[in-house]
Amino acid sequence: MKHSTTVPITPLAKAANFKVGYKRRYHMMAKPTGSTCNLDCSYCFYLHKEELLDQPHDRGMDDKTLEDFIRQYIESQDGEQIIFSWQGGEPTLMGVDFFEKVVALQRKYQPKHQKIENDLQTNAVLINDRWARFLKKHNFLVGVSIDGPRELHDRHRLTRSGKPTFDLVMKGIDALKRHGVPFNALAVVNRTNARFPLEVYRFLTQEIGATYIQFTPCVEAVDFKQTAPQFWHDDMIPVTGSRRAKPGDLDSIVTDWSVDPNDWGTFLIATFKEWVSKDLGRVQVNLFETAVVQTMGMPSQLCVTAPFCGKALAIEKNGDVFSCDHYVYPEYQLGNVATDKLDHLVFSERQKAFGMGKKNTLPKYCLECPKLNLCWGECPKNRLVRSPEGELGLNYLCPGIKAFLTFAKPELERIAAMLA
Ligand code: SF4
Ligand code: SF4
Repeated sequence: MKHSTTVPITPLAKAANFKVGYKRRYHMMAKPTGSTCNLDCSYCFYLHKEELLDQPHDRGMDDKTLEDFIRQYIESQDGEQIIFSWQGGEPTLMGVDFFEKVVALQRKYQPKHQKIENDLQTNAVLINDRWARFLKKHNFLVGVSIDGPRELHDRHRLTRSGKPTFDLVMKGIDALKRHGVPFNALAVVNRTNARFPLEVYRFLTQEIGATYIQFTPCVEAVDFKQTAPQFWHDDMIPVTGSRRAKPGDLDSIVTDWSVDPNDWGTFLIATFKEWVSKDLGRVQVNLFETAVVQTMGMPSQLCVTAPFCGKALAIEKNGDVFSCDHYVYPEYQLGNVATDKLDHLVFSERQKAFGMGKKNTLPKYCLECPKLNLCWGECPKNRLVRSPEGELGLNYLCPGIKAFLTFAKPELERIAAMLA
């Protein structure tokens, strides 16, 4: 997976030619505030990027960069639908006026045959009536970060002065509901809330009424602020299941708030059981839906459980383009939208190698695993440990993933047969 910035960008032969005979689609997470956020969540993997990327903290994406990005993002895709994803930091810090510009520019460059959609990932703290009216009017799909009921949410999601945020988030959700804005709940499953799966799940589905839920495991290497994934020191990498391959140990390879791999498994098992018995067909849980789809023999809907990735890139506020939202490190910078053609970066040999690396670098332990077709080694940024035989490149979450997929297999097959 390693790609230092010294590797040249060579457009794929077909990418250099606009009149290609296949659909070119990809996805870009746009970060108009960079890492600037109004909160200071303890597990945030993005807050330190300003220092790492040497970016000014007082400015968001300027008008030229925004227009360059929107024009090129539209021009470089020929699928029926183009999805803009606005993330952060906290994108609502840019204000409604910035997003008015966004939709105006999208209209300016939108070809007749293509549909443009927007989604916005937010902590919801700034969402008020004005925001909700705007989001409703322009059909934004909103993802709200919320980690469960008050005590679990406020454990890690705090303001910059260390105050709890639960009430502020609930106020934002209330504004979305009053204006009929569709929203998803994104819960980061960390070392604490992972131990309360039903409390988290029931809160999201019953208390706030979310019908689409994304569970994201919190896995952070201790040196994630300085060291890019796959640039770890090999001799420091522990074997799966060992003391250092869990959070809480003094010499652990992950931060204290990272989810314990076994807890990840029990969290998924408990919520899956609840989902199957009460909410199948009513609530969508990203990891469960995709496991059903894959059991039916169709491709994964998520990059993390697909054999290849590389079609979900990130653009920073200054126009720098990176291989993935989780790879915003100098080593994985592809170029800049002001000086490079976006499609040349996205459809380049280097980005292709990045995406193919997800499968091509799997250890033997994964290649021989009966769960391979539903897991594919999960996200490479989490491949922090060695296999029991000592081979590098195994996913930190492996014990939990395996436990979950083993437990869920009969039920996944039953659901898949029902839907076939
Ligand atoms: S590196 Fe991980 S998050 Fe990024 S595209 Fe690949 S699987 Fe997805
Ligand atoms: S369950 Fe573990 S061994 Fe199996 S494919 Fe996933 S990460 Fe690899």
